[in-house]
Amino acid sequence: MVTGAMEAHGTHLALGTDIILPTFLAKNIAEKTNALVLPTIPFGDSWDFNNFEGTISIAPDVLVKVYNSIMKGVFKHGFRFLVVLNGHGGNIPALTMAAKTAAKRGNRSVIIVNWWRDLAESARKLVEETPGGHAAEDETSELMHVRPDLVDMSEAVSHRIMTKFTIISGSYRDELLPSAMYGDPRKATSEKGRSIMEQAEEELIELINQLQQGKLPIIRE
Ligand SMILES: [Zn+2]
Repeated sequence: MVTGAMEAHGTHLALGTDIILPTFLAKNIAEKTNALVLPTIPFGDSWDFNNFEGTISIAPDVLVKVYNSIMKGVFKHGFRFLVVLNGHGGNIPALTMAAKTAAKRGNRSVIIVNWWRDLAESARKLVEETPGGHAAEDETSELMHVRPDLVDMSEAVSHRIMTKFTIISGSYRDELLPSAMYGDPRKATSEKGRSIMEQAEEELIELINQLQQGKLPIIRE
């Protein structure tokens, strides 16, 4: 199951960035592992960027129901494991809620992979010169690798704010995140994106292989 968002990513990246990247990974690993891939769910909870041009957001309570119906639909057919390859941070609360109900009974597991933060940690450390963010160096590099035609580096600007706490405020939202962006994309290259995506792919293949042997990806220390 691949989940993304149709959401403004600065003015230098495509609205579909959070759809394109995990869909690319899912397609590549399916070819190598024989895993089945569901059609990508293109809309997500984009409250943070809802006022920016092109963003279409789904209310979280609706998303929980959509995700939950799909998860239950998969399990109804006898599958034991469902990997959610999520491309968008705003979807995490809805995915978690949906999975708790869907995996409550029976021998069923939902594995949520928030790919931009759960995968390719060492590749990211090696290639990134600035911290990750939204439409920042990491995401820009990845889209340059996968769909260079959808990146316009002449529009790339840096913007970063820090807050000690999580602030949810409609009036502050647009002030805190001008141009629908957070981070510094100016050092992005397709080569950096390729390193990150290749390592992410390897780790996902490892996960699928483990699940195919009936094992959950748990590390005991
Ligand atoms: Zn994104």
